[in-house]
Formats: sequence, structure tokens, C-alpha cells
Amino acid sequence: MAISESVFRHMEKLVGRNFVTRNKEDLLCYSYDATGQSCLPDAVIFPDTEAQVAQIMKLAWENHLPVIPRGSGSGMTGGAVPIQGGLVVATSRMNKILDIDQENFTATVEPGVIVSHLHTAVEACGLFYPPDPASAAVCTIGGNVGECAGGPRAVKYGVTREYVLGLRAVLPCGDIIRTGVSTAKGVAGYDLTRLIVGSEGTLALVTRIVLKLLPKPECVATLAVCFDDMYTAARAVSGIMRLAVIPRCVEYLDAASLELVKDHLRFGLPRQARALLILEVDGDAGAVKVQADLITGFCKKAGALDVRMAKDPGEATTLWEARKALSPILYKIANQKINEDIVVPISRIPDMVARIEQIQQKSGLTIVSFGHAGDGNIHCNIMYDKQNASQATQAKKAVDQLFEATIALGGTITGEHGVGLTKMAYLSLEIGPVEQDIMKKIKAVFDPRQILNPGKIFS
Ligand SMILES: Cc1cc2nc3c(=O)[nH]c(=O)nc-3n(C[C@H](O)[C@H](O)[C@H](O)COP(=O)(O)OP(=O)(O)OC[C@H]3O[C@@H](n4cnc5c(N)ncnc54)[C@H](O)[C@@H]3O)c2cc1C
Repeated sequence: MAISESVFRHMEKLVGRNFVTRNKEDLLCYSYDATGQSCLPDAVIFPDTEAQVAQIMKLAWENHLPVIPRGSGSGMTGGAVPIQGGLVVATSRMNKILDIDQENFTATVEPGVIVSHLHTAVEACGLFYPPDPASAAVCTIGGNVGECAGGPRAVKYGVTREYVLGLRAVLPCGDIIRTGVSTAKGVAGYDLTRLIVGSEGTLALVTRIVLKLLPKPECVATLAVCFDDMYTAARAVSGIMRLAVIPRCVEYLDAASLELVKDHLRFGLPRQARALLILEVDGDAGAVKVQADLITGFCKKAGALDVRMAKDPGEATTLWEARKALSPILYKIANQKINEDIVVPISRIPDMVARIEQIQQKSGLTIVSFGHAGDGNIHCNIMYDKQNASQATQAKKAVDQLFEATIALGGTITGEHGVGLTKMAYLSLEIGPVEQDIMKKIKAVFDPRQILNPGKIFS
């Protein structure tokens, strides 16, 4: 529904003329996310207070206008794409870290805070906020709450959900709600905080977040472990997870990934290397040494070609930069990718690797896999030429087979990217009709007019 002149003028009065736009060039910038799917909104608005968000939402409610919450638009499933037009509410001006409470280990933040800014701020106080999506340099905490983002450190520390103690949010009708606690525990009533985390901006627009913090680990050791094939590496991952050590990260890169990033690595890889694990352990200096030695010994026995520990933080950073460079660099292979973030039980990773290999051979396409192997979360990137209709069909078939194999192995279709638009058609593979019905009823309680991020999650 197009925005009427009077509603647009009202929005200008609410936030000021500079902070609402319907210029085509501006709308284009807010029409897409990291999927590349695109749909023009009717307007984009940039509130800087919760009160403004509430007034904007009330106006949208009265005028049956779709509202799409948006952080940085780095989402991988189309969550922030305004598929039915309407009003994009961008949180970029609500970017204040309101409080870091060093005595109670909490941070209170606005949704538009960039995740890496939060990391830097809390670490300067000797504290630690573990969730670290590879996009941390650009994505917002609000977007992380929307998707329940994970990242490499989720193996040991868990995902965003585990760190959100409480929220303030604006409902589609414009009412402001406060959920959860600012304390270490709290079980009064139903857990609305957990319901909103991961709800992909479909239940409420989050305006303030109370996050749990931890003490910053004293030491971190980063290991790079090479294998001559992916199966040995995958088997080693399940073995490592059974050791009496919980690494904070177990990332893996397959042969195609290694080929793409080898120039980014400061050290040379053995010629036969076809898989790389990046492992990190943290804790006090003594514990880190014991854990690193245990993992090194295990990997050597498990057939590793080479195990190296980063000599200094600079070398560890280079290793992580190579890993983080992967997502954009994939376009060297083909001009289109379908990125899926399946998860299987850790013991089934070797089976999943075999299935991915079969799907690759059948489709004739390149599938590049990397990801957070320590928690079974594999990012599969199916690469194809978007101008080639037969390749596009093969890619779609490959996705179907990938999800079928994932579910057959006891996994889930998404570990951290959400359903959004791109996985909507596959939701029924995992969630039954009764459960979906309950979810839709919950959506109707929060949003009876279906104005908040419509057309997402459920087809
Ligand atoms: C190179 C790259 C690497 C990535 N690596 C990871 C990774 O390791 N782990 C991971 O989990 N993800 C990863 N992602 C995906 C993405 O960065 C995350 O999903 C992130 O949480 C999105 O944040 P954003 O600010 O960009 O949100 P957006 O894309 O703008 O929005 C995401 C969703 O959250 C909703 N939303 C945004 N703000 C609010 C709010 N204030 N209230 C309610 N809903 C809101 C939106 O409506 C949308 O549904 C990666 C993406 C890229 C491009």
C-alpha cells in the first residue's frame, strides 16, 4: 500500500525532514539485504528514540502500513527485504551503548549498535560479549536479536539468545513492552524475551536490549590444522568435541574454500592440504596450554598433515580475516550463490560431508562449504551462473536435496540465518502443521493486523 501524502507529512513531523525519505535512490539502498533479493519500500525512516518508534508504529497501525525493521541489512535470508513495500524503519541512529555495568556484568544497548563496537567497548572494561558473527564489523545487535545470530564462538559460549536478559520493544499497535530481567536469573511468567529473540522482526521492533557479559578470558590460543581430505577433518571434529576440552571455536574450510583464501594466509599450507580447521581455546594461561596440547596431540593422531599455533595475535587475526573473507570472495567462482546454514548433529558431520559431495557431483555445480563445524553448522554455498537457466534449476534442486539430507540426518534447515524469505518453502520439512499453527496464532496475538514484517517465515 502506498504511503499517503498526509501520512508522509506526519512522519516528517515525527522525526524531522532529514530523517524520512521516499527518494528513489534512497529507497534502492534499503530494498535488499545480503541475499541480493530486492523490493522497493515506499519510504525509509530513521528514528532516534523509542518514543519516535512507538509513534511511527501507531501511525502505521492506523493506516495498515507494512513496517520492516532493519539493522544493517547483512541478513542472509531476506529478513529485512520489504517484500510488500511499506515503511522500512532503520535503526542506524539508535546506536548508543547506554550502560556497561561492570559490577553486574550487563550491557544495555540500543538496537543499532554495531556488534564489533560493543565487543571493543566491553573488552576495554575487561569484559566479554561472546556472540561474534563473521559480519560483526557491520551487523547490528538488533539484527542479531532478530535472527538469534551465532558465529564461531557459539561452540563454547552459545548464541545471541543466551546473552539477552531483557528487552524493550514496540508492538505493532504502538504499545511499548518490557520483557525479561536485568538480573542473572528470572522466571516470572512466560519467557517473552526468548520468543522475540529470533522472531525475525515479525513480532515487535526491539528498542533496547540488556545483555549478559562475562569476564574476558585471560588468554586465547589459535590453532590451524590441515588435513588431506574433508572426511578425516570431519571425523576429527567429532573426536575433538569428545575430548575433555571445549574449544571456543572449531571452524572448517573445505578444499574449494582453501583455494579461494590461500593468498590471505600468512603461512604456506602443505601442498596436499584439502581441509583446514581453525580452532581456538581460551581461559587462564595454564589451562590454555593444556587444552592446546591435548587438541594438537589428538589432531596428529587423527591424521592431520600439520598443526600450527598462531605465534602472535597478528597471525591469529590474519587467519580469521582469511575465514571472514570467504563469503564475499565466493563470487570469484560464479556470479550467483545460494547460501544455506544447515546444522547436523556433530557425529553426523562426516555423513553430511559425503551427502554434499554427492549433491555436488549430481548437480555439476561447485558447492563450497565452510563454517562452524564445532556445533555442526555448515555453510553450504551453491555457486551458479544466474544467466544460465539450466544451472539455476540445478541449484534449486541441489538446495532441495541438501535440506532433505539435513533433515534425514536429524538436523535443522537453519542454525543462525533464520527463515526469512529464502527458506519459507522449506519450513514444513522441519516444523509440523500443528506447530506452525501455534506460531501463526502467536504472530496474530502480537500483530493482528499483520503489518510487522509481513510475508516472512510462513508461506
Ligand atoms: C559476510 C557475512 C557473514 C555473516 N556471518 C554470520 C555468522 O557468522 N553468524 C550469523 O549468525 N550470521 C552471519 N551473517 C548474517 C547476518 O550478518 C546476521 O543475520 C545479522 O544478525 C544481521 O544483522 P543486521 O543488523 O544486518 O540485520 P538485518 O539484515 O537488517 O535484519 C535481520 C532481521 O532482523 C530484523 N531486525 C533488525 N533490527 C531489528 C529490531 N531492532 N527489532 C526487531 N527486528 C529487527 C529484520 O527485520 C530482519 O528480519 C553473516 C552475513 C554476512 C553478509
